[in-house]
Amino acid sequence: MDYGLTDQAVALRQEVRSFVEDELAPVAAEIDREDRYPAAVLAALGDHGYTGLTIDTDYGGGGGSLLELTVLVEELSRANMAVASAVGLNLGVAEAIERFGTDEQRETYLPGMARFETVGALGLSEAGAGSDKSGMETTARRDGDEWVLDGRKRWVTNFANADVVLTYGRTGGEWPRGVTAFLLPAEELDVETAWETMGAHGVETAAVSIDGVRVPETAVVGDVGEGMVQRGELRTGVNVPARAVGLAQAAFEDAREFAGEREQFGGPLTDKQGLRWQLAEMAERTDTSRLLVRRAASLADAGEETARATSMAKIHATEAAVANANDAMQVHGGAGYVADTDVGRYLRDARLLTVAGGPNEVHRDSLADALL
Ligand SMILES: Cc1cc2nc3c(=O)[nH]c(=O)nc-3n(C[C@H](O)[C@H](O)[C@H](O)COP(=O)(O)OP(=O)(O)OC[C@H]3O[C@@H](n4cnc5c(N)ncnc54)[C@H](O)[C@@H]3O)c2cc1C
Repeated sequence: MDYGLTDQAVALRQEVRSFVEDELAPVAAEIDREDRYPAAVLAALGDHGYTGLTIDTDYGGGGGSLLELTVLVEELSRANMAVASAVGLNLGVAEAIERFGTDEQRETYLPGMARFETVGALGLSEAGAGSDKSGMETTARRDGDEWVLDGRKRWVTNFANADVVLTYGRTGGEWPRGVTAFLLPAEELDVETAWETMGAHGVETAAVSIDGVRVPETAVVGDVGEGMVQRGELRTGVNVPARAVGLAQAAFEDAREFAGEREQFGGPLTDKQGLRWQLAEMAERTDTSRLLVRRAASLADAGEETARATSMAKIHATEAAVANANDAMQVHGGAGYVADTDVGRYLRDARLLTVAGGPNEVHRDSLADALL
């Protein structure tokens, strides 16, 4: 379905789809089963310029739109959500540097990030700062011409492979002001726990401690005290519902194929009306999700207000992915419950997305705020 796509985005989708067929799909299940970091795939994505899609061409990126980002991420996630998440997170850090950083920061980090040779991770959440980031306790204090950071971050995804962590710390002042963003070298942070997660295998997530890490003034991203306010202006977060669209599509396709081939009660499952309706609903959920995601991305590309569209896309697409993966498992019968089937992986991966990127309940609050 090309609705709402530019010719450039359609061409990108074709290119990425053939990359995925050749280089990602064949190893997608293996990455999950072995919980192995997909280094080769990410390097190849970097060589093709996909990992720098939305980074400005002045810094070695593709200068692509957010709409194109949703196309890229959907296609990757259709094969493997974790790979799509690594790309999306890195571009999220790059967006913060590009929009709010200094020229020196842009020149230092963005060309490497565009090729995925320099990898960015996000250090925002903490034990007491989950859905409500105002509980943040990590501090940053000036000491001469340096900053000293102390605290703990959790859920730092892809920390093990990251070079730089965009880290948020309190610098004094009333919430939502009083938080500043810093670029910390990953080697200065210590892993406390590397979690074994239910899904998103291949891209590990960790709890880390920050003990008296000293950085120069040049590590500050954006204005002191404005970190959270500026964070609210970032738009690459649309990659989260785009990942959900990829999963919803994959679950639908697998269910349709299985139901067409599997015969019971004298004919294929696709002869049974209950199942036909189920497949129709899965397609409907996928298409509506994709349209909402494209709307959110297109509004952001046009510089319009996106709160309503973004939260709607996040809620709808991530819940559609969970529902489709669950339905696909039911359609597969016992075959869907075998440990390493793709449908099981879709369900485990989809389940993350209603929480990551802000739980859907918080997005429902934001949506209501935008409506009321
Ligand atoms: C695998 C994984 C990767 C992640 N990667 C990163 C990362 O790279 N960097 C990073 O900084 N963070 C990351 N996160 C953190 C993620 O953003 C948080 O998990 C999320 O913000 C929710 O915080 P919490 O888990 O502490 O849930 P809590 O805040 O404890 O909330 C628990 C539940 O309560 C409900 N709830 C919360 N608030 C409300 C409300 N206002 N109204 C109604 N119900 C509510 C929701 O159902 C929510 O799921 C990751 C998380 C996971 C699981």
